[in-house]
Amino acid sequence: MFRQENLNYYLFITLATLFIGIGFTSADFFTSPANDVKDFFILFSQWGTLMLALWSVIYLLSINKYLFGLFYPVICFLSGILMFFRYTTGTTLTTMIMDAALDNDNQLTYELISLSLIVILVVSVAIALLFVFYRFRYIKVNYIWLNLLSASVIFLILFNIPRINRPLSERIPFNLYFISSRYITEKKEVLKEREKLNSSIVCGENSDLLVLFVLGESLRPDHLGFNGYHRNTTPHLSKEDIISFQNIYSEYTYTNVAVPHIMTRADSIHPERAYSERSFIDIFKQCGFYTTWLANQESSKSYVYFMNESDTLIYANINKSPYVFDKWLDEALLPSLNYFIEKKEQKKMIILHTIGSHWYYNSHFPDEFQKFNPTTKSRIVKSNTPEEMTNSYDNTVLYTDFFIFQVINSIRNKNAVLIYLSDHGEALGENGIWLHANDALYTHRPACFIWMSEIYKQNYPEKYRNLHQNKDKYYRTDFLFPSILEAAGIESDIIDPDLSIFR
Ligand SMILES: [Zn+2]
Repeated sequence: MFRQENLNYYLFITLATLFIGIGFTSADFFTSPANDVKDFFILFSQWGTLMLALWSVIYLLSINKYLFGLFYPVICFLSGILMFFRYTTGTTLTTMIMDAALDNDNQLTYELISLSLIVILVVSVAIALLFVFYRFRYIKVNYIWLNLLSASVIFLILFNIPRINRPLSERIPFNLYFISSRYITEKKEVLKEREKLNSSIVCGENSDLLVLFVLGESLRPDHLGFNGYHRNTTPHLSKEDIISFQNIYSEYTYTNVAVPHIMTRADSIHPERAYSERSFIDIFKQCGFYTTWLANQESSKSYVYFMNESDTLIYANINKSPYVFDKWLDEALLPSLNYFIEKKEQKKMIILHTIGSHWYYNSHFPDEFQKFNPTTKSRIVKSNTPEEMTNSYDNTVLYTDFFIFQVINSIRNKNAVLIYLSDHGEALGENGIWLHANDALYTHRPACFIWMSEIYKQNYPEKYRNLHQNKDKYYRTDFLFPSILEAAGIESDIIDPDLSIFR
């Protein structure tokens, strides 16, 4: 008798889990590129792991029928919304979407509501209520404390394994919780007031200057045609007067840690400055520059502060995250860029945070840039051949060449300087290592190059000369902070001029 009741209870939890898993979570897996049966099984096992985690959550909730009655329909309702937009527009929940939804007037929200969405939500909630009814009417939980203990143990174990926790946080329905809490964390981070960099600043003569900083992604120098790569991955930039710095070392090999070190005065002796000081944006503002951050990447707790230091912050793609595999292209930045270049403002400093050569490579170049073939077919790295991986990567480089060329065309007739620095490099199979966020020779090697307009060169001939003299020297990414200020003619006693590539 007891046994049958317990069995019914666990069966109930399993069915309530599968309803969410098949009805909603699966929407997150449909667009995952997969090559063969093996890939399918890997994806299926990832989905299965999520289900195990979800099972533990529903197990916890269902011990108390009122908790279950309250939360289960709410989870199904919100998951239904996420599932609908995942299928219809490829949109996934991000902190940027939360920002747009909470900040905007309700115009946006009304436009998105359609009849099919309403039908999906009504059906989702109706089924959820059936589960609630069944829980109230037929389920009796025995040994409450024992069940509570075992549910908590399973829950705590699963949610503390990073390999499970990370992908979980981006998937339906878990992203409802994780993205919301990330949103709140980032809002708090922005509100923490960092002290003004206390120094004497000499702003210099630079009334119509335009300083453009392209923060690249996973681009390594040796795959650029103009650096001597055997493939011509830079047909446009090879014809430009590009000064390339091939010997830059990045201590950090993934975006969230690399970016705050690039933006601030942090160096190997004072790495903590990345999390306590303001960025160079603050100094540009003090010198009267209008500053803009154009993002084609998500915000992150580690650098959201700097994004909000800018006078304007614009997201080019608010619905993209690393678990979306449709096209996510840097050219989405161009309309805003052109708007701010032409804006009748004083001098300007614009940051473009690009998605560049981030994995999944095929998502980051349009079809017409698929010059090197065959490309990857699966998002499981090991399922692709080294040749396919490199081809897909090189196609992203080819597209970056085109993108930067568009940017240069927009500033060619201005008093402008463009500094490109990738946040870190990328491993492409050396010693069997791929991608980044790991310790490999090429993950520490970011691409870096400078372009100057003719007007800028005439105004600052010595900077142009100095660049040529310095281009083969070895620098850490620490060079960026003093160098970008020097490019703008800004001097200050807080910066080490010896680190500047323009000196
Ligand atoms: Zn990165």
